[in-house]
Amino acid sequence: MFGYLFGDLRNVYVPSGATAYNPPQVAKVDFNQLQQRVDSLELACAALWTLLKHTNGFTDEQLKEIIHQIDASDGQLDGKMTVPAAVCPVCKHKLLSKTATKCLWCGAPLHAGLFNQSDSGL
Ligand SMILES: [Zn+2]
Repeated sequence: MFGYLFGDLRNVYVPSGATAYNPPQVAKVDFNQLQQRVDSLELACAALWTLLKHTNGFTDEQLKEIIHQIDASDGQLDGKMTVPAAVCPVCKHKLLSKTATKCLWCGAPLHAGLFNQSDSGL
């Protein structure tokens, strides 16, 4: 959505020697690129929050309350949103790869967006 603000970040995560049979043990990540992305996201959040306060009259207390609700929606108040692990629709095992097109347990085909499913409605 805000990709135009943050530039081309396709190479931020570059696994070394990643293959289907040799998953990477340590990811190579450029810290400066990640810091730039965090800075850009922080700026965009501040701009959006300022816009919402000025145009709709929301308060900081309302923002804190909804942040608390969203944080708690995964069952843990830990300051982050944890996406629950996806489960194979056929064998019900926890999926081991976010990019696999087939279940690594039973071979069932997996559809795009399986990891993006959420019951929270958020
Ligand atoms: Zn399966």
